[in-house]
Formats: sequence, structure tokens, C-alpha cells
Amino acid sequence: MKIPLIVVHTHGHLDHRLGDSQFQPLPHVEIVPADLAHVRKYFGLPDWPNGVAQLDLGDRTIDVIPTPGHYPSHVSYYDRQTGLFFSGDFFLPGRLIIDDAQADLASANRVADFIRNRPVSYVLGGHIELDTDGKMLPLGSHYHPRENVLQLTKQDLLALPAIVSSFNGFYTQNGVFVLYSQTRILLALGFLLIAVLVAFGMLLRGYLRRRKRARATLT
Ligand SMILES: [Zn+2]
Repeated sequence: MKIPLIVVHTHGHLDHRLGDSQFQPLPHVEIVPADLAHVRKYFGLPDWPNGVAQLDLGDRTIDVIPTPGHYPSHVSYYDRQTGLFFSGDFFLPGRLIIDDAQADLASANRVADFIRNRPVSYVLGGHIELDTDGKMLPLGSHYHPRENVLQLTKQDLLALPAIVSSFNGFYTQNGVFVLYSQTRILLALGFLLIAVLVAFGMLLRGYLRRRKRARATLT
């Protein structure tokens, strides 16, 4: 049986799947959409986010582990042949953007249970975000001089449940990991902006009233 080139993702953020169109016109290519319905159906994970699915590549099996938290349909991949664990944006050296803290913690525990008795050569995340001094590179930067290595270790992955447990739901730094909720920070900035606008409006109204009163006494 000839296996097609299977294009799967860890999750659906655009920076991870914008290259799909390059594969679309090629023959024998199967692109799996990254939304939850397709991910569950394609891998065979009816009890999402519980269970581990297998992707059979012939003489090679890839385990597919649900890891929602950063993204609702996030999965991680474990290659039994090389011991590589592909963690996408669920776990990488740098920013851990957490959309659903409860789901993320459950994923961290699920993964720790999965790898505990399995060999892991490297844990490979989706981005390099640190330079060789361990300092954070700017978000979205395309130029990474002196960038740090991508790989993390099995020990790091086993420590993830404790790291995620330390998250206050908003912004927490834990070693080289910066955990934050983009949604909550945006919401807070939105409220702050509204508060500044309201305060400005009140100041302006007060100023105009005073000016009107001053004019009235002059005339
Ligand atoms: Zn992402």
C-alpha cells in the first residue's frame, strides 16, 4: 500500500499551516484540516481529549496525544522510532501562550503520564524564542541572531505539570518559560483603554464647564 504524503499540524494557528497551499496541488498528498472535528475524526479520538491515537506509516508508528490548552484541537506527536516528541506550541523554550489553563494542565499531566516509561530523545516545540543568553527574542521577529537550541528534554516535559500549575491565569514567569493568556491580557488592555477614555472624557467635560462658567462671569 502506498501511503500518501500526510500533512498534519499540531494546531490551527496560521503561522503553522499557511504553507498548506504549497502541498495542495501535489499528487498523493493528504492535508488534514486542524479544526477539532477533523482532528478527532482523522486520528480516531472519539473521547477527546482522552486517549492516544496511532498514525500508522507502515513500519513506523506515530502516537498522537491530545494536548489542548494553547489551542482547542492541539495535538502532540511521539515518533516511536526516534523517540522525538513534537510538542508544537504546547511546550517550547519561551512563551507558553495558554488559552485554557485547565485544559493545559490536564494536557501536561496526560503527556507526563504518556512519556514517563518511554524513551524521549528530544522534545521539539514549534518556535525558538530564546537567544544564547536565555533572553526572550521579540514576538514575531524574523531575525534571530545567536538563537538558542530548540530542543527540551524529557525531564523538562515531566516538569511541565508543575510549571503549568504555577500559572496565575494571567501572566507568570517560571524559569525560561513565560506563561500568559493572550485573551485575558487583551481584555485587560481593552478595559484599561476604556477607563482612560472615560477619565479623559470626564476631565474634558470639567474643563469645558469651568470655561463656560468663567465666560459667564466675564459677560
Ligand atoms: Zn500557536
